[in-house]
Order: sequence, then structure tokens, then C-alpha cells
Amino acid sequence: MDSCYAPGLIPPDIALQQQLLSITAIDKTEEVTIEDALYRVVADDISAPFSVPMVDNSAMDGYAFSGHGVTAGSQLTIVGKALAGHPFEGDVKPGECIRIMTGADLPPSCDPVLMQEKVTLDADQVVVNADITLGQSVRKEGEDVTAGSIVVAKGTRLLPAHLSLLASLGIAQLVAYKTPIVGLMATGDELVEPGNVLASGQIYESNRTGLKALLAKMNVQVIDYGIIKDDQQSIAEIFTKASQECDWLISSGGVSVGDADYVKDVLDQNGKVDFWKVAIKPGKPYAFGKLGDCYFSGLPGNPVSSFVTFEQFVVPGLRKLSGANFNARPIFKAQLQSNFKRRPGREEYLRAFVENNEQGDAEVAILPGQGSAVMQTYSKANCFIKVPAQVASMAIGDIVEVQPFFEYLQ
Ligand code: AMP
Ligand code: MG
Repeated sequence: MDSCYAPGLIPPDIALQQQLLSITAIDKTEEVTIEDALYRVVADDISAPFSVPMVDNSAMDGYAFSGHGVTAGSQLTIVGKALAGHPFEGDVKPGECIRIMTGADLPPSCDPVLMQEKVTLDADQVVVNADITLGQSVRKEGEDVTAGSIVVAKGTRLLPAHLSLLASLGIAQLVAYKTPIVGLMATGDELVEPGNVLASGQIYESNRTGLKALLAKMNVQVIDYGIIKDDQQSIAEIFTKASQECDWLISSGGVSVGDADYVKDVLDQNGKVDFWKVAIKPGKPYAFGKLGDCYFSGLPGNPVSSFVTFEQFVVPGLRKLSGANFNARPIFKAQLQSNFKRRPGREEYLRAFVENNEQGDAEVAILPGQGSAVMQTYSKANCFIKVPAQVASMAIGDIVEVQPFFEYLQ
């Protein structure tokens, strides 16, 4: 078959689709307080217990009165005052008005509010200096939210604006899906925890630190299984333990085709490999499968590859597992500021920096140092450029696809 993908590799969109199809969302729920609800996923539709605003109120500092028969030039007598939290309790009769502040309840007979800049004030008299329109500067009852309407739908991942909205409705408690438990392990005989002295041939283990920070954005509880030696038995033992303790296990390293790469074989022997080897760069050896009821992602060991496959596969997978309505990652267009050549065959994710030029148009530059071990480039980037598999070159001025890092899209 004629394909733009290198032979033996699964196209990334098919791999992702297959992975998402195999994931069943958590269905256990629990009550959480609104203070603990950031990034939690709502398990039931939440309806407004009352309308917002509850009664008509003023959108301006000014004067409120019955608008019938009032025109530019009319004179009104001030009979009282209403502030937010201090409503005016009396009657406002024709020919009268009250001083009113933003957010104050409007007495039933009053509509509109005239902003204070549009009157002349003389002792307790106000002269209207503008035409009057009913409804002007009035926030109508139910204008923002109607009582009984769904304000936060089942499957919503709660962000700061949702929490503010729920608080404004007096909702202090809600039902959320249980938080997924994610296990994390790094394989490699060469790996040493930061803080120790390195012997010859050793390097510091850095993937768990980075992945844990990414997971901190994700509404998951992490169990850290540490650094695991490159031998089948050690890996199999952690797989067994993690499959009993976790909903998803993420490993890094040992998933390629080297002599000390046992992860895929151990997954095969102890569980099920759904797919392995994706047409993505970096990140080709990515493996996905299951260990009992526990989902498994084998990320490649190179730090950049581990981040890229986490972004492209683990983030959407964990969103689905957590019960969240899955939203595709948005892709934006920007004008390329660099030239680029390569061998086609894999979808490539280049670390890049996108910003607006003086005309306000988005421009994106490929950062130097695209090796899959070069984390420094990643640390200076704010987005990926997504290079389709068939593309062999790109030039300055081309319009390219840009995917902001997921942590900027919360
Ligand atoms: P692997 O995928 O195990 O073949 O590893 C590929 C490269 O990434 C090797 O150079 C490893 O030393 C390095 N590497 C693997 N795991 C880690 C890790 N957890 N932290 C930093 N580098 C790693
Ligand atoms: Mg290794």
C-alpha cells in the first residue's frame, strides 16, 4: 500500500485512536469540596439552584427611576440610596429617583438606571441630560444564568472559571470521578538519582522528575516506583505490583530494540501489547498495552522522546480515563522563520517558539538543538511544530502547524 509512513510503524493518529478506544473511563465517584476540585472531572450535570442575577440590579453608578414619561430635561427628586448589599426598601414614585451603585438591587418600580455622568445634580434634584431607554444599565434577573439550567456538564474538567462560577451559585460540594492512580518508573542500569555522585558511565535520572511535574497538571495520584534495573525479573516484579496498585503505569526507557531493552517483552509476557513503534519523531519506540486492568505506556528513555510521547499519547489517554470529555488538541497556524530539511516518513514534533510579530501575526522559529536528548531546547520552547509525515522540507515564510504545549492550555 502506498503510504507516507515508514514501513513497520503505526501512523500516530491511528495509534492514538486505538489507544483511546481501548480505554474505559473510571466510573467510581466521590464527593469533593470546591477547594479540592481543581482539575477534577464532574460526574453529574450541575444545575443552577437560582437565577443570576437573582433580581434586576444596576450595572452602573447612577440614578434609578421609572422611565415611563421621563425624557431629556425631566427633573426627579432623590428619595433614597441603594448600594450593593444595602437595597432601598421604600417605594420610588413617578417624579422620584434613588441614587444607586453598581451591583445594588433595583427596586421593583425602577428601570432604567441612568449613569451619573448623564445627569445634573442640584441638592436633592436630578436633571436628566440624555434620552432614556428602558433596560439601559440594568442587569436583568437571570441574564447570566437561568435557574435550573445546566451550568457545568458531566465530564467537565474543572478549571478556575468553573470553580468561580460554582462558588457564585453557592455550590460548595460536588460529585467527581475518582482520581486515577498513575505509577511511574524509569528503567536503566546507568541511572542515578540526582544528589548522588556519578560513577563512570552513569547519568542522572531526569525523566521521572519531568514526568511527575507534567502529571501534577493532570488530576492524578502518582505512585513512584523509582529506578528499575535493566533485567527482566526486576521489571516483571514492578509490573505485577503496579498492575495491582495503579490504573495506569508509565515507564521510561528500555522499550527500543537494544540488548538491554526488556520492557516490551516483559509487557508481552505479563500482559498485552496493543501496539509498539509509532511513526513519530521523536518517540518511535512508544508502546501501549495492558497489565491486567492497568493501562501501560512505555515511553522511550531519551528525555525529549519521553515528553513528546507523554504529550501526544498519555495526556489524551489520561483525560479519557479520568472521565473527561475528550477535546482534541488545537493546532494553530503560524509563519515559519526557519528553513528545515529531513527524511520524510514520520510525523515530527519540533521544539519551537511562537510569538506575534509587530503586525500581530503569529511567527514560529525552530529552536536549534533538536536531538532527542536535548532537554535545554525544550526548556526554551513554548510549542511544537507538527511536521506531517510526507513533508521533506519547509522554508522561511511557509505556513506551518503549531501545537502549544498542553500545560499552557489548562
Ligand atoms: P533507552 O530508551 O533506555 O534506550 O534510553 C535512551 C537514552 O536515554 C539513553 O541514552 C539513556 O541513558 C537515556 N535515558 C533513559 N532513561 C533515562 C532517564 N530516566 N533519565 C535520563 N536519561 C535517560
Ligand atoms: Mg535503557
